[in-house]
Amino acid sequence: MPQLLAGKTALILGIANRWSLAYAIAQAFHREGAKLILTYQGERLKQTVEELAAGFNAQTLACDVTKDDDLARLTNELKNQGTVLNSVVHAIAFAEREDLSRPFAQTSRGGFALALDVSAYSLVAVAHAVSPVMAPPDQGGGSILTLTYLGSSRVVQNYNVMGVAKAALEASVRYLANDLGPSNIRVNAISAGAVKTAAARGIRDFSKMLESAAKLAPLRRNTDPAEVADAAVFLASDLGRGVTGNVLFVDAGIQIMGFALSE
Ligand code: NAD
Repeated sequence: MPQLLAGKTALILGIANRWSLAYAIAQAFHREGAKLILTYQGERLKQTVEELAAGFNAQTLACDVTKDDDLARLTNELKNQGTVLNSVVHAIAFAEREDLSRPFAQTSRGGFALALDVSAYSLVAVAHAVSPVMAPPDQGGGSILTLTYLGSSRVVQNYNVMGVAKAALEASVRYLANDLGPSNIRVNAISAGAVKTAAARGIRDFSKMLESAAKLAPLRRNTDPAEVADAAVFLASDLGRGVTGNVLFVDAGIQIMGFALSE
């Protein structure tokens, strides 16, 4: 089978370890022939990300998305080395642990601002930073992809301020899609079902959430990160060329459900 991303270069932000959804996406992109550039948040994650990058022959760059200087340096490094990006994956979110356990009504001003800055505004900042190095429209433009969750539009217990951040993220996807569409840059989100990752462990009772979700989902199971990654390949590839401003659910179907009768 031909590789779907042969000849393409992808920048992936958001790998913390081998359980990260971004790592599953990197594996799938590598399988499909993409050249990869991976970013890591800071010194604490540098070594792990470098070790994982070695498996893909990928370059690594530091980028904390709350720092404008880091984003400017990212643009400059990519420009200076003559990189032309076809695909960007934004798989970044953060909220204070206490804001993912106590009642939403008790969210502090600072906690709200932090969650929205890291988890939603950062997509806008990243899109702005990478636009100058994305392939021009006549060379296919490119794809920007982010990861969201059902808590953006439904109440999911303990997801709290992260749900508000994901609502802002999904709205940002639509506005960015409209701004960048004339440059043939497509902007989409995948709404992934719950997966046990470092970020997810910050949510109180996350294991119970996984158990309930597996019972309720039409496919009667949880989401496999590889399924999210394969959908990301579709959106990043030429197969997804007509899709922009969308939220694609890869969640074993749980988003269609209202409630189920207990057995
Ligand atoms: P993860 O902990 O593996 O990844 C989160 C990443 O965000 C980490 O790599 C971390 O370094 C990065 N990050 C946080 N603050 C940052 C900053 N200031 N600068 C740069 N990077 C920063 O967890 P994950 O579950 O793979 O999360 C990836 C994305 O998937 C997130 O947007 C998350 O909300 C989303 N998502 C996760 C699930 C799930 O159940 N795990 C479901 C739907 C959507």
